[in-house]
Amino acid sequence: MQVFGLTGGIGSGKSTVASLIEKYGVPVISADELSRMVVAPGTRGLAEVVETFGSEVLGDNGELDRGKLATVVFSDPAKRKQLEAMLHPLIRERFIEVKEVLEQAGNTQLVYEIPLLFENNLEHTVDGVIVVTASEPVRIERVIARSKLRPSEVRRRIDAQIDEATRRKKADYLIVNDGDLVDLQQSVEKMLREYLRPLKDDDGVQEL
Ligand code: ATP
Repeated sequence: MQVFGLTGGIGSGKSTVASLIEKYGVPVISADELSRMVVAPGTRGLAEVVETFGSEVLGDNGELDRGKLATVVFSDPAKRKQLEAMLHPLIRERFIEVKEVLEQAGNTQLVYEIPLLFENNLEHTVDGVIVVTASEPVRIERVIARSKLRPSEVRRRIDAQIDEATRRKKADYLIVNDGDLVDLQQSVEKMLREYLRPLKDDDGVQEL
């Protein structure tokens, strides 16, 4: 099974690319979704988080309140590290389970959407990295339209991530998302034709 990381900065269009890729029949696993799954109600992950950080991280409904957890850990780097050390193995475990299910269902390639792939040094865990990129003004405009954040807040988030030039350089395949959604669909089609599918053929797994 070939696993391709899909990454990109805030507002670059990762999730949009992920849903386009899925439309062409290549399964996508989202690291954000996995990170929610491992602390869902009744999980070992949630029990460990509550044991370590206290029940004040729970909302009134007894579920994890991610905002409250963020308040507890973001002001304290040691706690943040502790949380990451707790969740990363659970996310990895869940990823392997989902990957095995997809493999048993006959899939030979999958895309793993990981926003902080480079920041968390995860390149070595995938067979190739697809980076979605767009110019900073375009990304800021998209995020503002979606979230009502102020430009300065978006820029602060951009500054907290790896810089765009480095991200582009580290890509095995780059999708430039400065145009409209039709352009993006064409770029995804090109990526599937020229990058993913030929790799599959090289593997002798499946002809297109
Ligand atoms: P984040 O890291 O912030 O979650 P992302 O990289 O996953 O962002 P998306 O959520 O895919 O980015 O895109 C950000 C916003 O921009 C969305 O509202 C999406 O619909 C829109 N968008 C993405 N690409 C295009 C495009 N080519 N044309 C117009 N809108 C776009």
